[in-house]
Amino acid sequence: PISAELPSDPGLQDRFWYWHGASGRKYIHSVYEPDCCPPLPGAIYVAVRRKGKMRIAMAVGRFTPFWDGVLMSCEAAHVARLKADHGLVPGLAVVLVGEDPASQVYVGAKGKSTVEVGMASFEHKLAADTSEAELLALIGRLNADPAVHGILVQLPLPSHLNSDLVINAIDPAKDVDGFHISNVGLLGTGQKSMVPCTPLGCLMMLRDHHGSLAGMEAVVVGRSNIVGKPMAQLLLGDSCTVTIAHSKTRDLAATCRRADILVAAVGRPEMIPGDWVRPGATVIDVGINRITTPEGKAKLVGDVHFDSAAKVAGAITPVPGGVGPMTIACLL
Ligand code: NDP
Repeated sequence: PISAELPSDPGLQDRFWYWHGASGRKYIHSVYEPDCCPPLPGAIYVAVRRKGKMRIAMAVGRFTPFWDGVLMSCEAAHVARLKADHGLVPGLAVVLVGEDPASQVYVGAKGKSTVEVGMASFEHKLAADTSEAELLALIGRLNADPAVHGILVQLPLPSHLNSDLVINAIDPAKDVDGFHISNVGLLGTGQKSMVPCTPLGCLMMLRDHHGSLAGMEAVVVGRSNIVGKPMAQLLLGDSCTVTIAHSKTRDLAATCRRADILVAAVGRPEMIPGDWVRPGATVIDVGINRITTPEGKAKLVGDVHFDSAAKVAGAITPVPGGVGPMTIACLL
């Protein structure tokens, strides 16, 4: 139900994109930098000039997820400029220990996207029985390698490895996941830091959808170090009133119903039904859960029951396609 058209004035055609959606209400807008974002073939944008800034629209939820495409396009343009102006090729090293199937998929997707935007990708796949000393030695080499600008150790690590020790061995300046204790502390104190990419992607979508988040009631379900806690910090940084809910929260349904912004990062398939969602709320579903349908087919679902929640939500991200691709775009 969405179509795109260029403005008739040729002078504006390379700068303005117009978009007509069937429903005006469930679109998310993102900042469009005309100088850095070449148009993506097949993508549908809209842009309007607002307060002197170019804005571009795209959809979340049942709508088409373009966000990541726009960011990836920006990223590719930045990488090309770094190459042209400075002869520099940004390099991302991804370390995977063991053969966890989900981790293999994530690492593969990250490597593919890294190459797609013109960066160098260094994949280090280590055996499940790799010792801590071997892993720390590899991190030391990557820290010292000038061709490597970002280092990511895919979590979870096998249980014999101490994740905290390993993550804190990464040079904080190369800690693209933002999990190093220095970056966690900087984020917690509102200072410039490497920010974990999943919550950052969520925040970007929320900011663009709502503009200011100040004073909004935000509920984050899940308190992990990689999603729930940094998400709460970022929302607090944007002056939301934040509640972090978890497995011991007494009345989770009532807590969720208070939310103007509901972020689900639990890891339980479709745990949050539509009647926990306040009408008009913005729902960000971080969960990625693999289930088998009654017909025996494998399917990915989020932590939110999408069909019932989409009926009441003002906007909602889909799984797959919502937060997942944004995470990779933000990582790059
Ligand atoms: P964790 O398992 O580390 O944390 C889950 C959190 O959910 C915990 O804080 C836990 O509470 C809480 N929880 C569990 N059960 C309930 C319950 N019944 N009621 C309320 N809270 C509950 O998961 P992650 O944060 O690492 O990941 C969460 C989800 O997000 C997963 O599906 C994961 O695959 C997905 N994910 C998606 C990413 C993306 O790119 N889109 C990136 C990272 C994760 P407690 O602390 O009390 O145990």
